[in-house]
Amino acid sequence: MLADAALDFVYPPRCLLCDDDTLPGSNATRGHVSFCGDCHAKLRPATTNACCRCGAPLGPYSPSGEGCTLCIRERFAFDQVIRLGLYRDELRAACLMAKSPTGALMGRALASELVTAQREALTAQTFDAVVPVPEHWLKRLARPQYAAETIARELSRRLKVHLATGILAKQRWTPKQAHSSPAERRIQQHGAFGTLKRTNLHGQTLLVVDDILTTGATAHEAARTLKRAGAKRVVVAVIAVSPP
Ligand SMILES: [Zn+2]
Ligand SMILES: [Zn+2]
Repeated sequence: MLADAALDFVYPPRCLLCDDDTLPGSNATRGHVSFCGDCHAKLRPATTNACCRCGAPLGPYSPSGEGCTLCIRERFAFDQVIRLGLYRDELRAACLMAKSPTGALMGRALASELVTAQREALTAQTFDAVVPVPEHWLKRLARPQYAAETIARELSRRLKVHLATGILAKQRWTPKQAHSSPAERRIQQHGAFGTLKRTNLHGQTLLVVDDILTTGATAHEAARTLKRAGAKRVVVAVIAVSPP
């Protein structure tokens, strides 16, 4: 405690997003407060009703069970999407910071926000493992801090579910997807992942974690691969989904 107080004196806790150093005094112990009140309010979605199949925002009275008008025709290998908010404004800025080489603290803070905001959805089912969407090992060499894994690690810690970094592997280099259409993305991602030899996921419920869900092509391919290895149910947890 004394050491924490001394550190706060030397390095006053700052908001990870806006760098404001006026975090609330009562709970501004190092490591416990990540965002100032303003940023915290902006990171939380104004409405929480979302399509549970694709994460798209829904009106307050729309049922979230069977997919929305945006995803009803899509065939996804995953069963559910749990997300904090939409990839825009402050949450977009925060996600971009989490992707940077020094973004580990931001990644952990966003994962923590996700657990708090979606505790009900995340604890209503029992997961056998948390599986980060993997990156190609060559890309990993160049980038030791990887947002999907940082977020997955924190979710695993908070939910007390085993982190399985080894079962899913990216076996093929895929191009940057930013300018590809949804159909192109599916083709690019097809066969991108593999499971380690003799991995038996029979009957398991898995929580696949990524930072952002854009068209769902990557999550679909990861889920498809895990189901081929026997998984029964795959739920995708992301910080943000692209706005429709
Ligand atoms: Zn702030
Ligand atoms: Zn939907």
